[in-house]
Amino acid sequence: MNTENAGAVENHRSREEGLIVYPVYSRRSGGLSIGVNLYPDKKCCNFNCGYCEVFPFAGGVSFSRAVMESGLRKAIAQAAARNVPVKDICFSGNGEPTMSPDFAPALLAAALVRDEAAAGAELVVISNGTGLLREDCYAFLEQATRPPVLARLWLKLDAGDPVWYEKLDRCDIGFERLTGAIKKFSRRNGCVIQTMHCSVNGELPPLEEICAWAGLTAEIAKPGNVRLVQVYGKARPSPHDPVCAALPASSLEERADALRIAFETAGVKGPPIAIYE
Ligand code: SF4
Repeated sequence: MNTENAGAVENHRSREEGLIVYPVYSRRSGGLSIGVNLYPDKKCCNFNCGYCEVFPFAGGVSFSRAVMESGLRKAIAQAAARNVPVKDICFSGNGEPTMSPDFAPALLAAALVRDEAAAGAELVVISNGTGLLREDCYAFLEQATRPPVLARLWLKLDAGDPVWYEKLDRCDIGFERLTGAIKKFSRRNGCVIQTMHCSVNGELPPLEEICAWAGLTAEIAKPGNVRLVQVYGKARPSPHDPVCAALPASSLEERADALRIAFETAGVKGPPIAIYE
């Protein structure tokens, strides 16, 4: 597939130039992903991950649903003209999408465009999970991810204990509070779990952390609604470099192995585990 001809770019830097819609070739989507950026003007996130790829920028553009809709139609038409299938339309961009007041109406509008122009594409929300701590957002995501499924939720779970969570995600929202909400949500609703595996200030993820993460992920996956666990490495530059650094593929494999063992120990028929270096 020639994603370049589909207008796709290998990195997401174009979203820092005020773009609301940005086609990318996504390794985790496995093809052309059309990104929706709710924050073309500034980064907005309640995490401060050491590996975050959003560089400081000054954009003078505000989010507009009309611009998003026309951008999506254009990107889908460009892909179709080149016979490139759209794998997904993905809400991610310069921060945590669920923090935006535009999130719910924009997702509903994108679903309509998807249904009309790219019915085979999934609608994906990549989130750090903190929206689940708000009642209104929790209810919306619950409705969106239940059959008939409007959108898929990909949830960040970078750590198995509060110490590694604080080092990696650098967030003051309590670890137990956040993982409690993720457990509650996954009991009844579908999601994908995403875990970044990298070093922090030269320190490898400790063995106890990996075991705790594996146990926690097995617990989250036990009800059977987790479709996939993605373990991924740091592949792109970050403004915080060199805080976080990539680890060898064998290290990512070891984390995945720990999860397989945890599934077996807990008697869980776990979802597939995908590794992205
Ligand atoms: S949650 Fe995502 S956007 Fe927010 S700091 Fe972490 S990597 Fe960046």
